Amino acid sequence: KRVVLSGIQPTGIPHLGNYLGALSNWVKLQKTAEPGDTLFFSIVGWHALTLPQDPAVLRSSRDDMLAVLLAIGLDPERSVLFHQDHNSHHVELCWILNCLTSVGKLRRMTTWKSRLATSRNASSETEVDESLLNSGLFTYPVLQAADILVYRATHVPVGEDQQQHIELTRDLAETFNRTFKGEKPLFPLPIYLNAPSKRILSLRDPTSKMSKSSPDTASRILLTDTASQIKSKIRAAVTDSILGVTYDPVSRPGTSNLLTILAACTESNVQDIAGMYATKGHGQLKNDVADAVEELLKGPRSELERIRREKAFLDEVARKGASKAIVYSCATMKDIKQRMGLA
Ligand code: ATP
Repeated sequence: KRVVLSGIQPTGIPHLGNYLGALSNWVKLQKTAEPGDTLFFSIVGWHALTLPQDPAVLRSSRDDMLAVLLAIGLDPERSVLFHQDHNSHHVELCWILNCLTSVGKLRRMTTWKSRLATSRNASSETEVDESLLNSGLFTYPVLQAADILVYRATHVPVGEDQQQHIELTRDLAETFNRTFKGEKPLFPLPIYLNAPSKRILSLRDPTSKMSKSSPDTASRILLTDTASQIKSKIRAAVTDSILGVTYDPVSRPGTSNLLTILAACTESNVQDIAGMYATKGHGQLKNDVADAVEELLKGPRSELERIRREKAFLDEVARKGASKAIVYSCATMKDIKQRMGLA
């Protein structure tokens, strides 16, 4: 019996990286779920607060993200779709886990290190300045561990950027089980599930991942982009000036990213796709990638347009999802508190 959990921040309309690296895998997991499996998909509003958010924008992004989950094919009758911030057990467990996590371990998280790298001390070229970052960013992975463990999840489908956080979650589960023994260990050790295209890169800077919060809007394709927006962003994608097309992620990251996207959209092997373009140029590749992306996104895009307008329906889905989630996490919290002497 599997308990699957994953989440996405309401920080804007998802991009192709979110879709190929995480969301489309959620739909596959829902399709292949067996009787007795439980699936939780959460919109993680508390995680979004680690960066400044305009309240009005956040409010509409939360609704939009729920509409996206429905538009891509998640079914509230088969999966628990809910807002993280509707269930305070997540933050309660986060505090408990914070008390089991060393500061040193959090400093080693690559997500924290990359945040630090972008906050250089104004007076120095090389020194980074922790005082510019809030402590929510620092403990972001602990809140993620709480999201997972509060439902005793066994499988976590996320992109590669989150893999280290799942390792931290496993460590925390193990520490808790060892420290607070009961008849049986309380937490299963969750398994990281990756999609075949676990890391889609920025179209403008193929050394970094495609991201919702990058200031350059041409760096990502959104689920709401029209066919002509998709075409122009792909045509402008940074590649290289080497003749011909080969798959070489290290020395040709831009070209390889396009091959990865095409392979993912057509559910093919990337090496097979690369073989088909060996004698063709970037122009042909870009045309085909744009067509394949449009083919993939046109269904979810028109569904999203429709569902976005149904505010009362979205509220009802969120309300039902939250009550289901709370029933599950309540049992875990009771057990945790009993073992820790808090009951
Ligand atoms: P932000 O830029 O606001 O931090 P994000 O684009 O990184 O957002 P998240 O909401 O943090 O997106 O992540 C949602 C899911 O999408 C996670 O499972 C994450 O691993 C996955 N994901 C994010 N970016 C990519 C990418 N470029 N390629 C593959 N998967 C990705």
